[in-house]
Amino acid sequence: MHATGSEPGTGAGSSPWPAPADLAELIRSSRSVVALTGAGISVPSGIPDFRSPGTGLWEKVDPMEVAHIDAFRADPVRFWSFYGQRFAALGDKRPNDAHRALAALEQRGLLDAVITQNIDMLHRKAGTRELVEVHGSIARCTCPRCGASVALDEVRSKLDDSSDGVPRCAPCAQALKPDVVLFGEMLPRAALERASELCEQAQLLLCIGSSLEVRPVAGLPLLTQRAGGTVAIVTQGPTPLDDIAEVRLHGDVVDELQALLAAV
Ligand code: ZN
Repeated sequence: MHATGSEPGTGAGSSPWPAPADLAELIRSSRSVVALTGAGISVPSGIPDFRSPGTGLWEKVDPMEVAHIDAFRADPVRFWSFYGQRFAALGDKRPNDAHRALAALEQRGLLDAVITQNIDMLHRKAGTRELVEVHGSIARCTCPRCGASVALDEVRSKLDDSSDGVPRCAPCAQALKPDVVLFGEMLPRAALERASELCEQAQLLLCIGSSLEVRPVAGLPLLTQRAGGTVAIVTQGPTPLDDIAEVRLHGDVVDELQALLAAV
């Protein structure tokens, strides 16, 4: 116990802060470990969290308006004038040591799967094999008419060649839609079911870099808890689920996961 002399009622300061070594011990002793990641894990790769005010990509536009399924349907030229930049900006980003730490844990047999809210492909690039992308990813686009699936490289060359900045399906001339969940769209059912199943079965769920505010993903840790599993949260800033977390690490995600990897 640490004795700082502070009054009770100061929230997280009321108990000693756990170290990555405590989390490492939990990982070693858990039969099944699953990670759930959010925007915070990709911030060190230069991808701003769009909920952080005044940062980059979303600064000048309202994402709820521009990246909405209705906007795509109503005005694909305007949609792609925004989303084309997003593709270019995200497609060149590299994974960081936090992504790589999770891939290393999987390789060592200490992590079953990563569930991510991110669409940036950085877990794949880092080498994670069992990956559930609940908001989709920029890896592919689909033709809404014929269902043709087009890979990112081809979409980017279509973007370069297009006179109006819209990548189209060659046979249909229809604007392609990114395989990401836009505002106003449901999450892909299969991915969400797989994520729910993983969280129910997990003895330990590591929530990393997610503010756990965006439903339905924010409800996944509760599935773990109700099934008798343990929830750990590694993220800067408060989350609505801090009270149910057995381990709560507040530091930089790269530092915390590097320390964790060194301790397992
Ligand atoms: Zn088509």
